Amino acid sequence: MDLTMLKNLSNRVNFKSGQIILEEGDQPGEKSDAMYIILAGSVDVYKNFKKPNEVKIATLTSGSFFGEMALFLNKTRTATVVAAEDVMMLEINRENAYGFFEKQPEATYLLIRTLCTRLEHLTNFYGNAGGVQSAPESNFEETVDRKLDEKQTSSHIPGLFPKGHKKYNRTYEPREPFQIYEKRYTCPMCDKVFGAATVKANQKSEGMDRDMRQRFKGVDTLYYESVTCPSCLFSSLENTFVKGVASKYNALNIAMREFLPLVKDMFDEKSIAQPGVNADRLFTSLYLGLECAPICYYRPEMLIARIWMRISWLYSDCADEVMSRFAAENAQDAYLIAYEKSDISSQQLQQLQLLIGELSFRLEDYKNAQRFLYYAKVREQGSPVYRNQAEDRLDEMKAKGLS
Ligand SMILES: [Zn+2]
Repeated sequence: MDLTMLKNLSNRVNFKSGQIILEEGDQPGEKSDAMYIILAGSVDVYKNFKKPNEVKIATLTSGSFFGEMALFLNKTRTATVVAAEDVMMLEINRENAYGFFEKQPEATYLLIRTLCTRLEHLTNFYGNAGGVQSAPESNFEETVDRKLDEKQTSSHIPGLFPKGHKKYNRTYEPREPFQIYEKRYTCPMCDKVFGAATVKANQKSEGMDRDMRQRFKGVDTLYYESVTCPSCLFSSLENTFVKGVASKYNALNIAMREFLPLVKDMFDEKSIAQPGVNADRLFTSLYLGLECAPICYYRPEMLIARIWMRISWLYSDCADEVMSRFAAENAQDAYLIAYEKSDISSQQLQQLQLLIGELSFRLEDYKNAQRFLYYAKVREQGSPVYRNQAEDRLDEMKAKGLS
């Protein structure tokens, strides 16, 4: 937007760095109904500002505008906007709006064009703005070229599953369905509120597999860990779901639009709240999670590893050992990347070393098995249980002549 013609107008306002310009939840007419065009400086846009779940969803610079929903549609403010530095803006409110549109046809034209572009993106990918007022346009260009069809696939959902994946017509029913309840989630990407079946906390442990798969009496938590938003298909594991980065919403929509018509029925709100879990649906949710992770998180390495691990367990439950091994190999690769890249606590580090050691052992990669089991064994601050497991495994390798 050409700003020179706007800078001489009388309805300019200035905000100092850190000053709140408008606040999420403000009712129409409460403070101001204005929309703002940034002439100089920049602003940050937040959801849940100053709350524990605060998320910065965008930074807007000169030429951008925000707040139009309140001006045109009388909507409650859906985000908090704070001056990131000293900022000069044009304020268009109820009083001066007509005059502005009349005297500034070029600016008005550009404004309408930008609004139409946003609307087109949103209706193409989702059909609802989800309350986000101003999405940075750059996200579109970044991801629009993503080629999902480069992968070799063999399934009813093109582009999602790897070669060799089959249909696994199997439904898991928990032995103790009363251990399942409907947990309410708010999708961090599109704000959709929905319920999904979840296992109650404090399950009685029946031990752990060598690859750290937890076993519980009466219910298998694997079947309830992957969460998919029925609206935008954002998918993640239960304990990371709410941490999706809302400003990546547009990129997510572009990535998901090919899948949406093919899988939407699978994730209808009634069925995802049921205790019985269909294996094909869970595979879809987990593989969608792999698509979402690099788009929707700043540090996706560990999440990607954890999802591959769960995919491997699920193939194993479906008696597809070939695919289980394939997924375990991907999990090993992903854990090795996470090991290099992630900053993790000492206890977690030992757990990760043990896990990589065990996975490597399973995959007959004895060099990495020995290396990581040794790390886990000598980790002083770590847990003695993990240390012992690592030691036992190293002894076993020695006895079998594998080290
Ligand atoms: Zn969503």
